[in-house]
Amino acid sequence: MIEQIDKEYVLHTYARNYVNFKKGINATLFDENDKDFIDFTSGIAVVSVGHGNKRVADKIYEQVSNITHISNLYGIEPQALLAQKLAQLSGYDIRTFFSNSGAEANEGAIKIARKYGETKFSNKKYKVITLEHSFHGRTITTVKATGQSSMHSPNFSPYPDGFSYHDKIADIYKSIDNETVAVMIELVQGEGGVQPFDKKEIQELAKFLKEKEILLIVDEVQTGVFRTGQFLAANLYEIEPDIITLAKGLGGGVPIGAVMTTLKDIFSPGDHGSTFGGNYLVTTAALEVLNILEENKNDGKLDETITYFNLKLNEIYEKNKDIFTQNVGLGLMRGLRVKDANTLTSIIKNTFEEGVLVLKAGKNTLRLLPPLTISKEEINEGFKRLENALTKIK
Ligand SMILES: *Cc1c(COP(=O)(O)O)cnc(C)c1O
Repeated sequence: MIEQIDKEYVLHTYARNYVNFKKGINATLFDENDKDFIDFTSGIAVVSVGHGNKRVADKIYEQVSNITHISNLYGIEPQALLAQKLAQLSGYDIRTFFSNSGAEANEGAIKIARKYGETKFSNKKYKVITLEHSFHGRTITTVKATGQSSMHSPNFSPYPDGFSYHDKIADIYKSIDNETVAVMIELVQGEGGVQPFDKKEIQELAKFLKEKEILLIVDEVQTGVFRTGQFLAANLYEIEPDIITLAKGLGGGVPIGAVMTTLKDIFSPGDHGSTFGGNYLVTTAALEVLNILEENKNDGKLDETITYFNLKLNEIYEKNKDIFTQNVGLGLMRGLRVKDANTLTSIIKNTFEEGVLVLKAGKNTLRLLPPLTISKEEINEGFKRLENALTKIK
């Protein structure tokens, strides 16, 4: 039923699996036949506090029973409190603009960089350097910022000027010129294959860019909101970026993005905006998500979950060295490199049949992004099912 209607009326942008999920409890999903699945994806790092989170649901219900949306022409209390919370948790001296998605947050970051480049120097600076295998979004500009040539289809051209890509951090230095305004990177490339960069290398880059007055934009749409164990990956890397973007895990499932910057006075009224961005509904939800995760971080629960998940992950990696070549990632953003892409395709098919949801990243990485609140029982069950799936391909 769902498949037929979906195919008839929804534009075909995804190769979908037509399971019909009806219920979710933390990291467990149930389909219409009550078959259960352990969710090691959290909807691509979105459902950070689990499915059906009662605390978030109650806050949302209370808020939308009262006011859902007013518009950004008026002060919005939960928006102000959320911006304050982001400054507190990050430890940075920043202001925030709220968008509805990661791509839009990155658009905001690029606009900030462009305005900085236009107004701060005697010559116009507008070029943004990004990395190959990066992912920054699906709008025309962020698709161009994304360093994957397969994404720059002529179908959607012409693209905005001013983007160039490099394979390695070390190569960025060479291509900086007098018109370079920013470098935009993920600290752990997500879609590109769960690839963390070296901390020292990043710290040196950050220092160099600061000296040259070139902005460092860190795209934390996937790494942010405690995914790596710290509030931001930038906190873990001990750097101070000029601009940071968030989205995926911030709202626990409601669509919200954020661009945060230390250039606190860069924008004036009229420079940027969004109808929905930061409304009562989404900022109320995000505030509660952050409260929950902050508590879990402070009482040690989050670190315990990360340690336990990675213990079980490493067991399965060590036991299956004939399939996996590398165990990569940080915190609860993990990947197992699979010996070849075909094997990965069969693993993903088998895991679904066994009742555990996993993701693919890059060409040959099995990606795991469980809810940050996943229980020990769910971790045990998920890895048991993953092990069964692996046995089937041997
Ligand atoms: C998912 C993702 C985006 C795009 O976010 P959307 O909400 O899909 O627009 C951008 N950057 C990174 C690093 C991402 O993982």
